[in-house]
Amino acid sequence: MHDLLFRHARLIDGTGAASRTADVCVDGDGIAAIYPTGQGRAKETVDCDGMVLAPGFIDVHTHDDALLLQSVNQGSAHPKLSQGVTTVITGNCGVSLAPLQSRDVPAPLDILGADAFRFASFSDYLAELQAAQPACNAAALIGHTTLRVKHVSDTSHEATQQQCEAMARDVQAALDAGAFGLSTGVYYPPARAATTQEMIAVAKPLGAVQAPITMHLRDEADAIDDALREAFAVGKAVGCPLVLSHHKLIGRANHGRSAQTLSLVEEAAKQMSVCMDCYPYDASSTMLLPERVASSRDVRITWSRAQSQVAGRSLMELAAERGMAPVELAKELMPAGAVYFAMDESDVRRILAHPLTLVGSDGLAHDESPHPRLWGSFPRVLGRYSREQKLFSLETAIHKMTALSARRFGLDRVGKNGQRARGQIAPGMAADIVLFDPSTVNDQATYDAPTTPSIGIERVYVNGRLAALNGQTMDGHAGRVLHRV
Ligand SMILES: [Zn+2]
Repeated sequence: MHDLLFRHARLIDGTGAASRTADVCVDGDGIAAIYPTGQGRAKETVDCDGMVLAPGFIDVHTHDDALLLQSVNQGSAHPKLSQGVTTVITGNCGVSLAPLQSRDVPAPLDILGADAFRFASFSDYLAELQAAQPACNAAALIGHTTLRVKHVSDTSHEATQQQCEAMARDVQAALDAGAFGLSTGVYYPPARAATTQEMIAVAKPLGAVQAPITMHLRDEADAIDDALREAFAVGKAVGCPLVLSHHKLIGRANHGRSAQTLSLVEEAAKQMSVCMDCYPYDASSTMLLPERVASSRDVRITWSRAQSQVAGRSLMELAAERGMAPVELAKELMPAGAVYFAMDESDVRRILAHPLTLVGSDGLAHDESPHPRLWGSFPRVLGRYSREQKLFSLETAIHKMTALSARRFGLDRVGKNGQRARGQIAPGMAADIVLFDPSTVNDQATYDAPTTPSIGIERVYVNGRLAALNGQTMDGHAGRVLHRV
């Protein structure tokens, strides 16, 4: 007799294989067995008629380092659980919460919230995260930009050899503590002066253990080809798997170029491990950078420390009201965050559909008026792109959110401490499970109402515990800190 039975489910197991009808049984925090439908027996039964049962989704691109430490109220909607996300990769784009103790961090580190940087070591952060019992499972990356702010006194210069060695020692210590890899973001001011050689030196410890490096490219506009080549050079020199962050093309002149950038990635993939993540929207979001205004159709303010009341407003509309040039207004609002409408939908579709692409939200949980990707990315891929637009099958959509992601980040391995493998519905795997209605699942968050929970995600289990029911949090502390195996 098992603990829990999902009876008569349409099982999509994460591998990309065609769905089948089955009974899935759970014991404790693991999947115990899969039976032909009608044969499963358990103390508790969930009837799954018409529902899809899939592995919990893995959000490979998050900035949830601080969000995970916050307690979650029962009955509230949680941006991750309400989408069916059960595991997040934190610390992307070069920005990790540890190891750095600082009261006054430069942008873009402030995307993690004010006064959050208080961890002297990566292991201190992981210990506090475990004590906080997060809502989702967490796999943490250490960020190169955070290390630069810690070790490089003047970030407008390339790091010295000594500073590179100090950063590399912190990377090694983080890996030893359980970090899953390193992220970089040389697009952003505190890391722009970093050379290719600096990144290679800092990332050196990854090679021996095959931990991935995730890279926010130096340029996602006119110079994207060179930026891609730089990323490939870093991955090859270090000898570790490479994940290209939120692959996209910015600015009208670059629309349609994903056909070329994707063939560059395919070419590189013949010689090295490389993949991408992508969020399903044609607008991006990051710190407000005046130089980005001209290349955008519209810009929306997500927060502003100088004028907090403008969060959610269009920069262009606001500038017209005030009789100012948008660029000048942008300078007045800083420090601030923004959504930029500067991508082309055809590029989004082509990149999202590519077999090397994983789904990641890149959501920014501390923004007052965040990009809707924070609340909608995963149901949007299932509803808008798979069911409505038929960009790919439901099986493929789920593969890009589960088994493929788990394999690329090493979440598919079993740990010595009893840590289970994730990313598939199969006996022995973690009981991270999502049950959703394939006929209704979709995002509801918009640029005007960005925190509206998605629909159709009926049940979410994290480590065998019911974490969310119809979008409402039932158990906000079922997640675990995962350690790289
Ligand atoms: Zn990011």
